[in-house]
Amino acid sequence: MIPLFKVAMSESAPGAVAEVVGSGQIGQGAKVAAFEQALGDRIGNPRVATVNSATSGLHLALHMAATGHDDDEGEVLSTPLTMEATNWAILANRLHIRWVDIDPATLNVDLDDLARKISPRTRAIIVVHFAGYPVDLQRLSAILDDAEAAFGFRPMVIEDCAHAWGATYQGRRLGTHGNTAVFSFQAIKHLTCGDGGALVLPDDAAHERATLLRWFGISRSADRLRNPPDVAEWGYKFHMTDINAAMGLANMAWAEEVVARHQANAAYYDRELAGVPGLEPTERAQDRQSSFWIYPIKVEDRAGFMKRMDEAQIMVSNVHERNDTHTCVRRYAALLPGLDRVARRIVCLPVGWWVTEEQRAHIVETVRRGW
Ligand SMILES: *Cc1c(COP(=O)(O)O)cnc(C)c1O
Repeated sequence: MIPLFKVAMSESAPGAVAEVVGSGQIGQGAKVAAFEQALGDRIGNPRVATVNSATSGLHLALHMAATGHDDDEGEVLSTPLTMEATNWAILANRLHIRWVDIDPATLNVDLDDLARKISPRTRAIIVVHFAGYPVDLQRLSAILDDAEAAFGFRPMVIEDCAHAWGATYQGRRLGTHGNTAVFSFQAIKHLTCGDGGALVLPDDAAHERATLLRWFGISRSADRLRNPPDVAEWGYKFHMTDINAAMGLANMAWAEEVVARHQANAAYYDRELAGVPGLEPTERAQDRQSSFWIYPIKVEDRAGFMKRMDEAQIMVSNVHERNDTHTCVRRYAALLPGLDRVARRIVCLPVGWWVTEEQRAHIVETVRRGW
């Protein structure tokens, strides 16, 4: 069976982790600092605060966005097509979800629908770069300019970059476009720490605040003996450990190769699957480069397609279920015609670094034969 996911562990990672485990210093220390430095260098924004998962990162980002609003009305605009982690972070902050429709071409949020749904109750906007394909961030920024003119405030944008390590928009990596970006280093993401994540912040004040709030609001750099640190604002226990950071550091160079191989396999599918009847690709715009964590296509008769792939030893899946139909969020149900049009047709082909040239040729042949 050709798998859909695989852990991208470098050869040097086990040794690097063993060294930390035996060192007597396994909490947050020098390795976390070094990993943050390396992440900042790679992204092109030094304001990186690592955390123990992207879920924690999203929770903290929303907490930072909503602080100071003591009302029961606060809403977060978000996409229903994502891992549940994105949206349950909204509920964990006691905020309400307002679903934004999906653009069937990109599988990202429909920015026209998003513009219509911004209101004085909007506390934050979450966008997911689905499959690693960047949202049109320039257009989103223009929508926020209009919202600011209309309502007198600018809602904070949180970019869920969990699929999108290595993706670029207008020539720059995600995390450099003026919003709070949250990355995941979970087991099967491009860059893995075992479990881990990072907030990448737009300014120094937000970076300092996130760095404090990820560990109880206590400063770790203060001179504790002479000057015991005060806690001005309480925080969480979301910090990363040196064990995880050592794994991440050891995987960083390999992750560049991993992303390049995902992209090369995707370019092959784009070329070889063009025009196959019953199969619709997703958009490719010139100003952005997807990291292709997954390779989603839309197919007619998905059940038939999946059966044919299974018979050919090719693992396929829709990966994420639509979140809006879960019982726990029924109260937020909305009309989402764009999502309705694609939800039952989305399926992802194996595209990762482990897929060999023979395997991808076998996948293309199997799809071309029809289902
Ligand atoms: C993996 C994932 C998350 C959660 O990441 P963790 O690091 O596992 O908490 C959030 N959003 C999306 C879109 C994901 O794919």
